[in-house]
Amino acid sequence: MSSSVKTVVRAYQNYINGQWVKSSSGEMFPVYDPSTEEVIAHVASGTAADVDHAVKAARAAFDTDRWPRTSAAERGRILYRLAEKIRANAARLAELECRNSGKPIVEAEYDIADAATCFEYYAGLANKVLGHVNPVPANALSFTLREPVGVAGQIIPWNYPLVMASWKLAPAIAAGCTCVLKPAEQTPLTMMEVANWFEELGLPPGVVNVVNGLGETAGAALVAHPGVDKIAFTGSAAVGKMIVKSAADTLKRVTLELGGKSPNIFFDGADWEAAVDGALFGVFINQGEVCSAGSRILVEKKIYSKFVEAMTEKAKRIKLGAPLERETKMGPLVSKEQYDRVSSYLEVGKKEAKVAIGGGRPKQFGKGYYVEPTIFYDVDNNARIAREEIFGPVASVIPFEGEPEAPRREVAPRRHRLGQSHATNLRRSAVGRLQAVGLRP
Ligand code: NAD
Repeated sequence: MSSSVKTVVRAYQNYINGQWVKSSSGEMFPVYDPSTEEVIAHVASGTAADVDHAVKAARAAFDTDRWPRTSAAERGRILYRLAEKIRANAARLAELECRNSGKPIVEAEYDIADAATCFEYYAGLANKVLGHVNPVPANALSFTLREPVGVAGQIIPWNYPLVMASWKLAPAIAAGCTCVLKPAEQTPLTMMEVANWFEELGLPPGVVNVVNGLGETAGAALVAHPGVDKIAFTGSAAVGKMIVKSAADTLKRVTLELGGKSPNIFFDGADWEAAVDGALFGVFINQGEVCSAGSRILVEKKIYSKFVEAMTEKAKRIKLGAPLERETKMGPLVSKEQYDRVSSYLEVGKKEAKVAIGGGRPKQFGKGYYVEPTIFYDVDNNARIAREEIFGPVASVIPFEGEPEAPRREVAPRRHRLGQSHATNLRRSAVGRLQAVGLRP
């Protein structure tokens, strides 16, 4: 299939108080197609002043009761309309997500459907937020009343752009909060397209504001702003730590969904096909750019060699290609920065372990941030590639033997909080995705 999206380099501004406004600095930054390395858009580079403008708009929408007094049923209806609009434009959004992030079109289609489903879920939930009456003596009345927190500052990563935005926006809108969302600078485009519809779908000005920009400028200003009541962040553990420190100054509530190095553990006696396919899916879906990627593959010694062999044979058949081609199972990484980061881990891995497959750049691509699906084996559990999040298509296979308790001792010491909604969503999505992306026949 060839793209129906022409290479028109568009410019996107910030969406503040129901208006498209330029950055106060007048600066823009380029956004790329990682498969061609071409610039596909220019986006306003938000400043602290732009963030302040957006927070004041969100504050006004909240403090004047314009939004919290809108009935929960009406907030739900707006969310349903957003979901419908996303579904009606799913093909176009999927194509844009695919071009901007490098993920295969089939996965991008799945993501856009997921984003719509998220808005539908919270649309239904909006008018079902209940409290409790607590048992107290007869001369007293005690109850809990759930109220919106206020202005939510929302910062998201680039690996599932519209899905991440919907996970932040939908619950906040349903609850009656107002929002200032900062997309990842690498992948803002689908969110900007959706912001185009806010007004016609009935979202009052100031309820959702979108400020583009870099993390250290727009993101940091949002976290530090005294007018923000809560920060909801998804991204790296390093930035998460900075956010907690900065947010402490203004005693904001903070929700963090950070990175990980998830173990997948396989014992002798496992359903063979499901185990091998599951291991491949776990680490190679979305080019391995997944916070819960099963990048540490612990395999019981009795089946270890055969398992590595079977994974390797199947990994050879993963089709790398242009993200818009329907047969493509793996596209490029999202950016040059990510390509360099993953490539440097490939060099580390070659010193620390043995390579079963991959380990470099696939030769067939002249351009694009492509990396081969890579399987390292005989990896020591203390190796860097067993402990550090690579966020790319790189598996570390680690043998273990002994009682079923053995791998528990081997599991990396650090765990980061993974939101319940995310965990549930991944479980729900896993089987469908496995089939959709062809990692499972
Ligand atoms: P990142 O932390 O570099 O960036 C995430 C977001 O934070 C971006 O919007 C960025 O602009 C912003 N940011 C950067 N510095 C900031 C600062 N000083 N103050 C405020 N905001 C700042 O992460 P990334 O490279 O975009 O994404 C990859 C990471 O995200 C991985 O570690 C991955 O595991 C994690 N992630 C976690 C989940 C989850 O649900 N737990 C989901 C997806 C990604």
